[in-house]
Amino acid sequence: MEKFVYDFKEGSKEMKPLLGGKGANLAEMTKIGLPVPHGFTVTTEACNAYYKKGSTLWEELKEEIFKHLQSIETVSGKVFGDVNNPLLVSVRSGAVFSMPGMMDTILNLGLNDQSVEGLAKATNNHRFAYDSYRRFIQMFGDVVLQIKKYKFEHAMEKLKESRNVELDIDLTSEDLKHLVEDFKKITLKETGEEFPQDVRQQLLMAIEAVFKSWNNPRAKVYRKINDIPEHLGTAVNVQMMVFGNMGETSGTGVAFTRNPSNGEKVLFGEFLMNAQGEDVVAGIRTPKEIKDLQERMPNAYQSFVEVCGILEDHYRDMQDIEFTIEKGNLFILQTRNGKRTTHAAINIAVDMVHEGLISKKEAIMRVEPQQLDQLLHPTFDERELEKAEIITKGLPASAGAASGRVYFSPEDVVKANASGEKAILVRHETSPEDIEGMVASVGILTARGGMTSHAAVVARGMGKCCVAGAGEVKIHEAIKQFKVRDQVFHEGDYISLNGNTGEIFTGEIKTQNPQLSGNFEVYMKWADDFRRLKIRTNADTPRDTRQAIEFGAEGIGLCRTEHMFFEDTRIPVVRQMIVSRTIEQRKNALQQLLPMQRQDFLEIFEVMGERPVTIRLLDPPLHEFLPHEDEDVKALAQTMEISYQQLKEVVNDLKEFNPMLGHRGCRLAITYPEIYQMQVQAIIEAAVIAKVERGLEVIPEIMVPLVGEVKELEFVKELIIKTADEVFEEKGTSVQYLIGTMIEIPRACVTADIIAKEAEFFSFGTNDLTQMAYGFSRDDAGSFIKEYIDKAILEKDPFQRIDRTGVGKLMEIAVELGKKARPNIKLGICGEHGGEPNSIEFCHLLGLDYVSCSPFRVPIARLAAAQAAI
Ligand code: ADP
Ligand code: MG
Ligand code: MG
Repeated sequence: MEKFVYDFKEGSKEMKPLLGGKGANLAEMTKIGLPVPHGFTVTTEACNAYYKKGSTLWEELKEEIFKHLQSIETVSGKVFGDVNNPLLVSVRSGAVFSMPGMMDTILNLGLNDQSVEGLAKATNNHRFAYDSYRRFIQMFGDVVLQIKKYKFEHAMEKLKESRNVELDIDLTSEDLKHLVEDFKKITLKETGEEFPQDVRQQLLMAIEAVFKSWNNPRAKVYRKINDIPEHLGTAVNVQMMVFGNMGETSGTGVAFTRNPSNGEKVLFGEFLMNAQGEDVVAGIRTPKEIKDLQERMPNAYQSFVEVCGILEDHYRDMQDIEFTIEKGNLFILQTRNGKRTTHAAINIAVDMVHEGLISKKEAIMRVEPQQLDQLLHPTFDERELEKAEIITKGLPASAGAASGRVYFSPEDVVKANASGEKAILVRHETSPEDIEGMVASVGILTARGGMTSHAAVVARGMGKCCVAGAGEVKIHEAIKQFKVRDQVFHEGDYISLNGNTGEIFTGEIKTQNPQLSGNFEVYMKWADDFRRLKIRTNADTPRDTRQAIEFGAEGIGLCRTEHMFFEDTRIPVVRQMIVSRTIEQRKNALQQLLPMQRQDFLEIFEVMGERPVTIRLLDPPLHEFLPHEDEDVKALAQTMEISYQQLKEVVNDLKEFNPMLGHRGCRLAITYPEIYQMQVQAIIEAAVIAKVERGLEVIPEIMVPLVGEVKELEFVKELIIKTADEVFEEKGTSVQYLIGTMIEIPRACVTADIIAKEAEFFSFGTNDLTQMAYGFSRDDAGSFIKEYIDKAILEKDPFQRIDRTGVGKLMEIAVELGKKARPNIKLGICGEHGGEPNSIEFCHLLGLDYVSCSPFRVPIARLAAAQAAI
């Protein structure tokens, strides 16, 4: 018979897919002898089988569950549902990938009207027993019976008011007894049935509810955002309860073995005495810092420090640990690799290599390349910051800087974001329902909750700036405003958040680019040692080029000359060039453009030194440069001294039904060779100047776009050589240069051997190649690709991640044929995919020489290339 239930003693951390993350780690900790309360795990396969069987628990599974429950009874000496000394359990969900707060946990299961008395007797603590019972009804009511939480909370508030107390812990045992009766009445009213008294039934209902929670809407959103497959299912852990709510020598807490914000090697966390489960993160009572535990309970603290050391050594990574102290005894309830900011991730990885805990290779694999984005984003401009008016301060929950308009609901944030505004989500505290609003915001501010609150954890995961627990911020959601003392902020007002310090400012503050240094440099150097791929950048201006070099770019893989044409002073000349009716007119306009382009190239060569620079000759359809508004046409006609009518005709003539498949790329050179001739002259002259005047040995790589037929390339090549020769002749000196082509038309891929005879390098233009391979218009596909992904027809947008099966196959053919014809051919990629980690891995596997990406993606590409090589 298939096994669906595992005792903690039977599992290990390797069994995550079956036992879920929480279950596998509970098993592992049991195995290495840590104080983990006994329990068992119902597997993810059971969850999937549950759905296959039409969402019912089947007999064999129930038997297996109760058999394992019995063994907890044996070990604990307690009996489930007993009237004297009852066994209580928690029922905890545990997916394969941690999904914080997504799934629901039930504590104190096994209590009913009889066993609560048994618990009171056995512990000699009535208050504790009824506190546990009311918590159980509350959680079970919410998670299993789907009763709105606030119904219970109201009842509790009313009671507190009538007793004139503020905190739960001030309620007496009699109060709590009343509360239990109230809660049971609420249950009856809301469900039409009595609160279930059969403890076995309670257990089965709870397990089923966890299975069901796999498919609740917020879990689905979380999976979608985090790319977690739907078919994994969740495991369920059933575990003997230990009690942090037994009085002042009991408590519960969470801690990271290192600081998850900056990586510093100090215990970092929070705890509450006389509390249970979620109290610490719920933000109702304010938790204490973990170091205070040392004074309160030195022994328990000491044990905890030891456990932290053991777990870090064992998992060889920073751990996020949940613990409970029952009457002075420490129990560990969960461990997992802690979520952290990228800043912390890099510091921890570098520190751990220095501590001898992990190898450099492992360190390199520890950071998601995409995550580096977090570090590369701006911080507040220091000078502006000095002038800024601080409102108040909260906790620095997630690093970064954000300025934006205030909104009080996730829906409003989503709306504001859609209309192009920068929005800051302001909440009492966040919950999983807020996820979409958090995604759409530039920053998050909460009034309650600590460093381990939902807002803090989720924001760090997203790399989003977050200030949490700003107690002075008084939010009035209904009228969409918040107050700090007597200062009022309305919806739409600007504020700024500093996620590194927790400070909150009025108004907008300018941001500045980050300074990368210290461990980041060390880490990236290690990455560079592993990678084989070179990293180039797509840059068209000296400024972009400088930025890219700072980030470690080793060359330019794509310099788009048309971007230089769009500048204010140039566009009129470019337009003249395009609408010219005679060669003379065109040459005249080109003559004016020549010195401008030459200067551009020279500046770029100066910034790049002797690093390789690939320059693409003009690519887009000409009409992109033309004026389309009547007024602009009139103005241009005037400067060109032709009639409006004449010009209008030219503009109309240049219109195309399908410009991306129209008169563009090297096709332009077939009709107007003068354009490329001017560009080549500018490139070669700039290289000559660099050589003669600056002593720089530049070898420009001249790239011909959109070649599909070798004769196109032959034609342009002849033009390039002739132009270059003329420059050499005139200047009396020469430079080396290369001629190559973009590979972006499927026909070029399958005839790459023929094309390679004429091309010294290939650069894959995967944007166009994807467009033409799929027949998806780059500019229109956005409207339907989402549907394709929702309906699982495409797994990913092929414009974001290379489609290895089809587009990748074309690339493979081109590489193979190209190398056959020209073994030393240089191969690279310059499409958007050149900065996407998964596509970079593919380029590594294909054996390309380099990838080229936008400047801010260069560090991401360096790391992705290293990981591909490991
Ligand atoms: P989450 O995945 O949301 O963190 P958990 O299953 O870890 O949910 O449970 C939340 C909290 O409930 C734990 O941190 C712990 O404090 C408490 N808890 C869970 N199981 C037990 C148990 N057997 N005894 C005492 N407390 C428990
Ligand atoms: Mg937990
Ligand atoms: Mg292209």
